[in-house]
Amino acid sequence: MAIRYRCRHCETEIGRLPFGSADEARTLLRLGEEEAEEFILEGEDGDATVQCICKDCEQSLDRFPDYYSLQKWLQ
Ligand SMILES: [Zn+2]
Repeated sequence: MAIRYRCRHCETEIGRLPFGSADEARTLLRLGEEEAEEFILEGEDGDATVQCICKDCEQSLDRFPDYYSLQKWLQ
């Protein structure tokens, strides 16, 4: 099982932990149940994908905050 970190905008894989599960990702990120449902996708194989934001998209966000203003972000 693994935890993958993927940008929710451009779908670039940012990083990967070769161990862990959706529950562990939730604990690591200190997310509540509802946030976890929004940000963590659990695969059929038990892998978890955490939707976050890559550096490129983060810069776009800084430049065009209005465009993303309705979105919620993980740091
Ligand atoms: Zn991105």
